[in-house]
Amino acid sequence: MKLTFKRGVHLSYANKNATKTSPIRDFVSDEVRLITSMHIGAPSKPIVKKGDKVLMGQVIAEPVGFLGIPVHASVSGEVTDVSMIPYLGEGNVECITIANDYEDKWTELTPLGSVESVDPALIVPAIKNAGICGMGGASFPTHVKLSIKPEQKCEAVLVNGAECETHLTCDHRLMLEQGEKIVGGLRAVMRALGSEKGIICVEDNKPDAIANLKRLALNAQGVTVQVLKTKYPQGGEKQLINAVLKRQVPFGKLPIDVGAVVVNVGTCAAIYDAVVYGKPLISRVTTVTGCVNKPSNLRVRIGTVVEDMIGACEGYSAEPGKIAFGGGMTGLCLPGTDLPMAKSTNGIVVYSVKDSKSIDEGPCIRCGKCVAACPIGLNPYLIKRAADADKLEEAKKLYVNDCILCGCCSYECPSRRWLTASFKIVKQKLAIQAKQNGGKG
Ligand code: SF4
Ligand code: SF4
Repeated sequence: MKLTFKRGVHLSYANKNATKTSPIRDFVSDEVRLITSMHIGAPSKPIVKKGDKVLMGQVIAEPVGFLGIPVHASVSGEVTDVSMIPYLGEGNVECITIANDYEDKWTELTPLGSVESVDPALIVPAIKNAGICGMGGASFPTHVKLSIKPEQKCEAVLVNGAECETHLTCDHRLMLEQGEKIVGGLRAVMRALGSEKGIICVEDNKPDAIANLKRLALNAQGVTVQVLKTKYPQGGEKQLINAVLKRQVPFGKLPIDVGAVVVNVGTCAAIYDAVVYGKPLISRVTTVTGCVNKPSNLRVRIGTVVEDMIGACEGYSAEPGKIAFGGGMTGLCLPGTDLPMAKSTNGIVVYSVKDSKSIDEGPCIRCGKCVAACPIGLNPYLIKRAADADKLEEAKKLYVNDCILCGCCSYECPSRRWLTASFKIVKQKLAIQAKQNGGKG
């Protein structure tokens, strides 16, 4: 049986054909630029300086605070710069540049052995030491997600293989080509949490990946594959739990409050590498597509610069209008191509000048299509009215903070109202206000 969640949208375009049959290929560049705030939480603290020689996998920035994770050198070579750079919406962040010596000399690693025989108590610390954060785009530190309280019980670990965003196929290729790492990583998570059920959730537009994972799951205790209807945003944590477990995560609560933990497929593969080989997270698969001559799924070292990745795809096939990290529904526009990708960068999409033109918003005609589409059950047109009048308190009462910025309302709106963009600004303003009020929101 194919499962799904309430509301959401059926996208009329997916733009996945250019890369869904492209096998993962490796690309390594002359230089990597590793920012120290690739995860949610305080930035890591650099412990190297210009001129230092580093080995692949060596810690170059140490974790800070409860949510902290380390940053590792993703190539061996020489540190050529440690300085602040502007990075997307985060202001200035510290960045460590390493010139690649192409020797790929590893630092000493500490493998723990098979996921079935390792002491479960060692798994979460290994995940922290490997610097793993959510690779589906959320970048939440994985060791924190897996550090559940003694009174909490994880009944099921869900692996998110929905990949419902437009353009992206990196998870699809990983499920096809490295399914054994995903299943192994899931088993490690299940053992760490004492969970007996592991469910890999995949949309029905990836039948080859489903078949491969079902075959691998036959030999993995407690692991099954659940087929989902293709619908956006099927891969949202709360939507996935609703579809598969028929449970609602209440406003302001976490998946573990309803007995579930959700992990992305790429994160699972990274967990497998961390446990079995002792390898930190130094590379990932990223889809590079749109107006490039050779759309690809590249396995790149963390910190590879966007311009180099576009070069690895044989350059632009048309004049670029805008370039974004991520897919068409939630992607973040880049101010330039000299920025490095990070641990959660699942895609780089180049849009033509024609496709980049912004459209003027029209008046609300009260059609209600945005309400019917919202997977959270919000009233987007009312929130938009509050946002336009800068009535932050009213927007808050309408639960704008629970908006997951999925873009369904904007996608459905016949007047092309800038709903999601307004909600993002309101959420940012409320977050600043909450900070000024000492977190009392
Ligand atoms: S962007 Fe927010 S308001 Fe709009 S559909 Fe998604 S969750 Fe609902
Ligand atoms: S979909 Fe657009 S026009 Fe329709 S009610 Fe919502 S905001 Fe108004």
